[in-house]
Amino acid sequence: MSRSAHPAGPRHADVFPEAHYSAPAADLNVLDEKVWARTVTRDTDGALTVGGITVARLAEEFGTPAYFLDESDFRARCRAWADAFGPDADVFYAGKAFLSRAVVRWLKEEGLNLDVCSGGELTTALDAGMPAERIAFHGNNKTVAEIERAVETGVGRIVLDSFQEIVRVAHIAQRHGVRQRVQIRVTVGVEAHTHEFIATAHEDQKFGIALADGQAAEAVRRALALDGLELIGVHSHIGSQIFDMAGFEVSARRVVQLLAEIRDEHGIELPEIDLGGGLGIAYTSEDDPREPHEIAKALSDIVTRECESANLRTPRISVEPGRAIVGPTAFTLYEVGTIKPLEGLRTYVSVDGGMSDNIRTALYDAEYSVALVSRTSDAEPMLVRVVGKHCESGDIVVKDAFLPADLAPGDLIAVPATGAYCRSMASNYNHALRPPVVAVRDGEARVIVRRETEEDLLRLDVG
Ligand SMILES: *Cc1c(COP(=O)(O)O)cnc(C)c1O
Repeated sequence: MSRSAHPAGPRHADVFPEAHYSAPAADLNVLDEKVWARTVTRDTDGALTVGGITVARLAEEFGTPAYFLDESDFRARCRAWADAFGPDADVFYAGKAFLSRAVVRWLKEEGLNLDVCSGGELTTALDAGMPAERIAFHGNNKTVAEIERAVETGVGRIVLDSFQEIVRVAHIAQRHGVRQRVQIRVTVGVEAHTHEFIATAHEDQKFGIALADGQAAEAVRRALALDGLELIGVHSHIGSQIFDMAGFEVSARRVVQLLAEIRDEHGIELPEIDLGGGLGIAYTSEDDPREPHEIAKALSDIVTRECESANLRTPRISVEPGRAIVGPTAFTLYEVGTIKPLEGLRTYVSVDGGMSDNIRTALYDAEYSVALVSRTSDAEPMLVRVVGKHCESGDIVVKDAFLPADLAPGDLIAVPATGAYCRSMASNYNHALRPPVVAVRDGEARVIVRRETEEDLLRLDVG
């Protein structure tokens, strides 16, 4: 996703891997707590445990590959976000990162709201008892059926993404005799990924309505004129895996500017702004994410300051972290299969999953780390590439990492920080059976999404 992630040609490091990847400074047996879920530790025998259960037991009971999610960590992160933003702001968990009925119940219990972006996510949310007024509905091409369902069930807000949708939602709301609460998603001309952000004047993407050229102001005019809509605010989402708050600063400034223009033109002050999600997590030891309270303070300072200078009442802020809540709470456990040393290059370590359970490396050139978790080892580090079992040479899980040189088939290795956008983007490529998600808490493990079976595959294939 980041611009720099797709270099034009082979990188030096790909041609001369050993030259670039000097042996790691850290002891491979030591787990960097930044990238692992909070209750993860090694027991006295060296095996990794989560929620007090060893990976050997988890592998035996649930098989591999599988995602293990630290429920107390998930709940603690929800609380940290809610506490950081306090009663005058709203935290919406972005369900697309990972959604299941158990997750919905945790969110509900911990006081978070929920973003959905499809009928399927909405069904899951409602089925698990999330009150509709705590749900926001997103998407650049919501179907008429999805809008009907959202309006009928009374979702708290629909985030309007185009001129056509303004009319569509208004029409459907009117037919149901309601005024639907809506926000307008604007593209503020900021693109932020990881350590860089780019401020641009024009927007070449499918989401939102551009601030530039007065498009967003025109969308506000039209929404205000329609009886079926109650316009509650303006929404902006600028990217993903962001560490640099400067992009949010520019975005907040431009959104507040729009609120001031709306006040000047229409004599109303919209009560809410949503600054989206995209906050970064640690996939490797190089990443240094901010704590929710730092993020909350930074965002509220920016908005307060901008509103003061525009002489506006400070609107209620909402944010939509997905990855930052669920990402760090889970790891994927794999069993090592074939090990293929390529002389002078690196060693290819094949695992029993791959791009079907983690597409992010292939799709975004994402970085991950990996550790031997069924035991510790004093062997020398070896440079590895962890690959899957799929018929595709881009089927890479971890591009470059070190594992002990005595690694052997049957060892368990784990890739941390796979809670977000791994199970939710999983596929059946090669008729792979999508792995289960197992929640672990206080010495107990339970399946929250079961492993697919061959019967599941055949059930869809109606001959
Ligand atoms: C994807 C998305 C999010 C969540 O992004 P994360 O990187 O998971 O925090 C929030 N809001 C909107 C509108 C999104 O599209």
